[in-house]
Amino acid sequence: MNILQEFDTIAAIATPLGMGGVGIIRISGDKAFEIIEKIFTNSKFEPRKFNHGWIIDGDPKIWQKQKEQLNSDTQTESKTTCIAIDEVIVLPFFAPNSYTGENVVEIQCHGGINVVKNILNLVLANGARMAEKGEFTKRAFLNKRLDLSQAEAIADIIHSKTSDFAKVSVKNLSGVLKEKINEIRNEIFEVLSRITAGIDFPEDVAEPEYSYLIEKFESIITQINSVLANANTSNVLRQGISVAIVGKPNVGKSSLFNALLSLDRAIVTDIAGTTRDVLKETLDLGIPVTLVDTAGIRGISEEENKVEAIGIEYSKQSLAEADLVLFVYDSTQGIQEEDEKIYDLVKDKNHIVIANKCDLVAERESEKVYLSALTGEGVQELKQTLTKKVCDIEPDDLEFVTNKRQQTCLSRAKASIDQALLAANIQELQDLISIDVKSAILALDEITGELITDDILDNIFDHFCIGK
Ligand code: GDP
Repeated sequence: MNILQEFDTIAAIATPLGMGGVGIIRISGDKAFEIIEKIFTNSKFEPRKFNHGWIIDGDPKIWQKQKEQLNSDTQTESKTTCIAIDEVIVLPFFAPNSYTGENVVEIQCHGGINVVKNILNLVLANGARMAEKGEFTKRAFLNKRLDLSQAEAIADIIHSKTSDFAKVSVKNLSGVLKEKINEIRNEIFEVLSRITAGIDFPEDVAEPEYSYLIEKFESIITQINSVLANANTSNVLRQGISVAIVGKPNVGKSSLFNALLSLDRAIVTDIAGTTRDVLKETLDLGIPVTLVDTAGIRGISEEENKVEAIGIEYSKQSLAEADLVLFVYDSTQGIQEEDEKIYDLVKDKNHIVIANKCDLVAERESEKVYLSALTGEGVQELKQTLTKKVCDIEPDDLEFVTNKRQQTCLSRAKASIDQALLAANIQELQDLISIDVKSAILALDEITGELITDDILDNIFDHFCIGK
C-alpha cells in the first residue's frame, strides 16, 4: 500500500455476504460525506444522529420530485430515470470521532447479497476506492485511535473460535496489554534517562549506582516474565488443540466421541471395526478442541479387510499428530494384551487413560478415570481434566492474551535486559549498558506499534477481512 493511497476515500461491505437482517456498507475518508450526498435522499447530517432515507442511482433530488409527482398523480414529461436501490439508515461519524479517525459513513441496508453489492458499486462509482483487507483498522492505528496490540485484538475477536477467547481478546482491545507494556517501557525508560543524564552531564548528574541498576533490571525481568507467563495458554486458546480418542475396537470410542460432543455424530454398534474413517468435530471447552474419533486399532492384515486397514493407518497418523490422547479401554475386560500394544503407542504422549463402561463394573481403583459413555457418568469431569491438561491457567482467569509476534518482542526485550543485568553485575561502562536498555525499549515499541516497519504492518492487517 503506498502512502498516497492511505488518505483517499475507501469503502467496503462490513457485514458477511449472505442473507440477514441488515447489511452494512462502510465509507471512510475525506470524501465520505460528499459521496453519500450524491446518492442519498436525506443528507443533512448531525453528529451522532442517524438519518433515514433512500439510496438512489441517479440524482436523489430528482427521484424525490418524481416520487412526489407520482403520489399527487401529476403527469410528468421527465424522462430522467432514477432508481431506488434500497431504503436505508445512514450513520454519520465526524472526524476524529469515528472508528478510523476520519469522516466515516455507515449505510445500513437490508441484508441481501445483491442489495449490499449494488450500494457498494454506487459508492465506488461516486468516488470511493475499494478498501483492502483490514484497511479501516489500519487507518485507525495510523490515526492513533488504537495501538497495534488493540488492532490485533480486533482481529482476534473476529477470528476467535471460542467464547472465552473472544472475552479475553476484548480485554486486550480495552488496552490491558497495552498498559502492561507501557508500564514496563516507562520503567526501562526511567533507567535509560538516568544513565543518559549521567553520561551527557557528568558534572551535574551522578551516574546511577550499579546496585540501583541491578535492582531495576531484576524488577523489569520479573515483569516481562509475568506477561510471558500466559504465553502457552494464549497460544492454546488461539489455535486450539487436537485430541484423539484411541483404543481397540468396541471399547466405546465412538460412544465417548458422541458423549463429549452431545450428539450422535459417530455410528455406534457392537460390531468391531465399525468406525473405519477418522471423524473430526470441534468442541468448545473454553479452548477450541478438535476431537478425533479413530478406527479401533487392531492387528489385521490388509487382505483381511482393506478398508479397515486404511482406517487403522489413519488412526495411527491422527495419534501422532494429536496434542492429547484419550486412551480408552473396556473396564469390564480390564487392560488386555491388545490394549497394551496400543498403549505403547500412546504412553510417551500427553494422554489420559479412560476406563469406559464403568456402569457395568462395581469395583473401582482410585487412580483411574472411570467413565460411562453410555450413561454420561464422568463425562463433565473428563472435560475439566482435559482443559487442565493443556492450559497452565484457567481461561477465565486470563487478564490478557499475547500472540506469537508479541511474545517474540517480549523475549527480545527480556534478552536485552538480561544482558544489561549481566553487564551491571560486572560494573561495565554505563554507556555500553545503555545500548541493551535501548534495544529493550525498541522491542517493546514494536508491540504497541510505536516503532514498526511497513512489512510487519502489512502482514498484520493482511489477516483481517475486507470491511474491517
Ligand atoms: P468403538 O468401536 O470403540 O467406537 O465402540 P462403540 O462406541 O461403537 O461401542 C461399542 C459397544 O459398546 C456399543 O454397543 C455401545 O453401546 C457399547 N458401549 C459404549 N460405551 C459404553 C458404556 O459406557 N457402557 C456400556 N454399558 N456400553 C457401552
